[in-house]
Amino acid sequence: MSVHVFGVTGLPLIHPGDDLPALLCGKVGFSDGDILCLASTVYSKSKGYVRTLASITPGPVALQIAGRDHEDPRFVQSVLDEATEVLLDDPFILSEMVHGHIGVRSGVDRSNIEDGFVILLPPDPKAAAEDIRTRIREISRADIGVIITDTVGRAFRRGQTGHAIGWSGMPAIRDFRGDQDLFGHTLQITEEAVIDEIAGFGNFIMGESNQGVPAVVFRGCGRWSGHDNLYFSPKEDVMRKALKCLQEKRSIR
Ligand code: GDP
Ligand code: MN
Ligand code: MN
Repeated sequence: MSVHVFGVTGLPLIHPGDDLPALLCGKVGFSDGDILCLASTVYSKSKGYVRTLASITPGPVALQIAGRDHEDPRFVQSVLDEATEVLLDDPFILSEMVHGHIGVRSGVDRSNIEDGFVILLPPDPKAAAEDIRTRIREISRADIGVIITDTVGRAFRRGQTGHAIGWSGMPAIRDFRGDQDLFGHTLQITEEAVIDEIAGFGNFIMGESNQGVPAVVFRGCGRWSGHDNLYFSPKEDVMRKALKCLQEKRSIR
């Protein structure tokens, strides 16, 4: 397999109401089979999933956490507002959002936006990917795949990587179960999270600060078969169970 990867440069600062698919099609001649990684940050900015800190009144829990962590209580409140469940609140808030993604501070960002604003994750990142994909097909006729990415921390290792939080046009997971290895053993377990691997490299091309590259195109990834069952159910998820145990022991609530 030979894959060509390029960042989309020259996009402006994005604001609510901007037509992101049109801007992207103005910069890239998309072809069938391309995979577009798009930073959740710019999707959210284009759709107005942003808040001003001035409009947020922190509640008692936000005030308590903010006091302990020396954070802006309005920011903490915006994080709590996005969370359907707080799995951990010390030394940082780790929370689950309505779409199933679990992330530090509910994925709420204060970087790459004007002072006094926060950027929220899209409330339905799968629908966001579908929306971008459909609009790009309407404009360019190209049938592409779209991955909405965010930069996330990981368990066990330092350093953040890009993860896919929404996707359209490809299965999330390439399922190797039932395949034979080089020695004829049947694989029992291996399900490869291909969309996260692509998101990780896309995130590397984007950078995290002032690069101004919120979109990356992958050409030549081919197709794979598998399924979309990316998130563990709470019952299967051993990390989540362990964190909840820890949180119950020392919750400040
Ligand atoms: P996240 O990973 O989705 O939280 O997004 P980041 O804040 O890490 O930004 C990813 C990339 O998009 C970086 O190269 C940023 O400089 C770039 N970026 C963020 N906002 C904008 C924007 O409004 N316009 C442009 N052109 N690039 C942006
Ligand atoms: Mn982010
Ligand atoms: Mn990032």
